Order: sequence, then C-alpha cells, then structure tokens
Amino acid sequence: MNLEEIGEFRFIEYLKKTYAPNDLDILKGIGDDTAVFLKENDTALLLTTDMLIENIHFKISNMSPEDLGFKSLSVNLSDIAAMGGIPKNVFISLAIPDKINYEFINNFFRGMDELIKQFNLSLIGGDTNFSRNDFIINVVITGVAKKNEILYRDGAKVKDKILVTGYLGDSSCGLDVYDGKLKFNSNYEKYFRNAHIRPKPQIKEGKIIAESKIANSMIDLSDGLASDLRHICIQSGVGAVIFENLIPYSDFMKDISRSKNVNALDYALYGGEDYCLLITVSPEYKNELYNVFNSKINTPLFEIGEIVKGDNIEIVLNSGERKAISKMGFQHF
Ligand code: ADP
Ligand code: MG
Repeated sequence: MNLEEIGEFRFIEYLKKTYAPNDLDILKGIGDDTAVFLKENDTALLLTTDMLIENIHFKISNMSPEDLGFKSLSVNLSDIAAMGGIPKNVFISLAIPDKINYEFINNFFRGMDELIKQFNLSLIGGDTNFSRNDFIINVVITGVAKKNEILYRDGAKVKDKILVTGYLGDSSCGLDVYDGKLKFNSNYEKYFRNAHIRPKPQIKEGKIIAESKIANSMIDLSDGLASDLRHICIQSGVGAVIFENLIPYSDFMKDISRSKNVNALDYALYGGEDYCLLITVSPEYKNELYNVFNSKINTPLFEIGEIVKGDNIEIVLNSGERKAISKMGFQHF
C-alpha cells in the first residue's frame, strides 16, 4: 500500500499512537500546530516545522524570491500563532538546485528578513544542500507561551461557538489567478495574488485570544476550513455545524463570486492557506471574547457555527439544506 492510499491524516494518527511521548516534560507531541515542552515553572517552549517543496507548495514562476522567503516563514509563524505563542528562533534548511543562483537566495532571505525584523526573531541555524531538480525549503521555529494560556486543538466543547479571524478563500482564489485559471481586472488580481503570497501571521491575534483565557480551542486555517475544523472535531471528540450565510468573504470575493465560474464556498472550505485562526469559545464567553479582541486589535472576528455532539461535520446551506462536509470535497447537489 502506498502512502497516498493510507492518507496523510491516518499516517499521522498512526505515528501519534506508536510514538507516545516518554518524557513528562513533553506537554504535547504529535497532533497539534506545534509540539509543547515544559520549560520552567509556568513557561512552555513551542516547536514546529514545515516543508515547502517546489511544484507542490509553490511555483518559482509564480512568486518572486522575496515573496517565497516571506511565505516560507509566515506559514510556520502561523502555527506558533495558533497556540497563542510568541515566536523566538528560526532554523532554515535549503536544498538548492542549479537553476537557483546566489542573487535568488539573497532575495529569498530579504523576504524572510521582513518577518525576522517584525517579530524580532533570531536565525540560529539550518542546513544547506544541493538538490537535483526542485527547490526545497524547511523551516523550524521555536516560540514561548505561558503553559496555562496555550490553546490546543482538543479543547472544543459541545455548544461552543466557532469563530474565525479573517475572510476565507482569498488565498486559494489567488492561486487560481496565478495559474491563469481566473482572470479579473488588475486591481482584483493584485488583491487575490497578494492574499496568496503574503499571508500575515496572526501572532498578535493568537496572543490576545490565548491571554484572555476564555477560548477553548484554536487552530490556524492552513488546509481549508473543512480540513482544519475536522482536526478540532476529531481531537476534541465532537461534531460541528457551520452556516453558509455566516462564512466571511472579502468584498473582492463577494464581487467575483457573482460571476458564474467562481464558487466562493468551495474556496473557503477546501482552498486553504488563509492563515487566519479558528477558535471555539463557550457561548457565555463569546461576547467577552469579542470585547477583548475588538478593544485590542482591528482584525475582524466572525462567528460561523457551533460545536455539536457526535462526530458529524455539517453545513447549513443558504437553501436551508443541511449537508455533510466531506473530507475530500464539498458534495455538490
Ligand atoms: P500543520 O498543518 O498545523 O502544520 P500538520 O497537519 O502538518 O500540522 O501536522 C499535524 C501534526 O503531525 C503535527 O503535530 C506534526 O508535527 C505531526 N507530523 C506531521 N508529519 C510528521 C512526521 N513525518 N513525523 C512525525 N510527526 C509528524
Ligand atoms: Mg497549523
């Protein structure tokens, strides 16, 4: 059996069961946005890694080296944000093919530098190798958080409201613009392309939510709402229902989805790479969370559904019909 048949999700579940942490200092091993280690007293160390592979995660023809550097770091920072942590140190490992020259690598690091400066990070190591064909980037990031503020994927409770901290679908729509599948006027194309290549890591947003100590669970939206909400539900042993009419779209997305060939809901559910946060909070604390969040930051917060008993993950469509959100894709009528 090949790995594709087993599926990434089941493979990770298998690893998680087989390699349970054997050290009491490990507060979370496999299964969340970062691993968590007890550091001292009430402080925890966060650690996460992600790999970006040419022609799977990015195309060199689509992105400038600066954008690629920025995004490689940004997607890793997003995992620190999803725990409510502060990022600290970075390792960068590269497998560089012949076609990538010194200037490219310099510009790649210039893009990373924007985030290194913004979040006051230290680049403290990595590895450099040559590659036969594809450019491969691996980033490791550490962070810190107060142990009792960290929000995990497994904390969602029945009746919790499900909230997200941004518009959904713009990034994957941007990918289709890059790939020439969608064409708009230049303003629109610029907006969607930018959403795809310059995701803003929501470190401050994650920290505000974690510090408030009123949310129950959190994850960053990297693979699309369908997949990431499923992670929360499976880890927490609950189901969820979301409402099509509550899914937040940018004005740009609302505009283009009036045309026939753009299905905003598909982008939101299955597109991925929005890199905003999904939070669940008990209904009695929902208003407090809105108040704390809105008083500290301009980022929007949208309620999109609620956690329910069982293991079904469903969407109530604008037509009133209730449908299961499948893992593989939204079942059209
Ligand atoms: P994210 O999308 O937030 O980066 P992933 O879905 O990539 O999270 O990973 C989920 C969990 O599985 C994480 O805890 C990650 O460290 C772990 N994981 C993924 N691949 C492997 C692997 N090959 N070996 C061990 N753990 C893995
Ligand atoms: Mg994540």
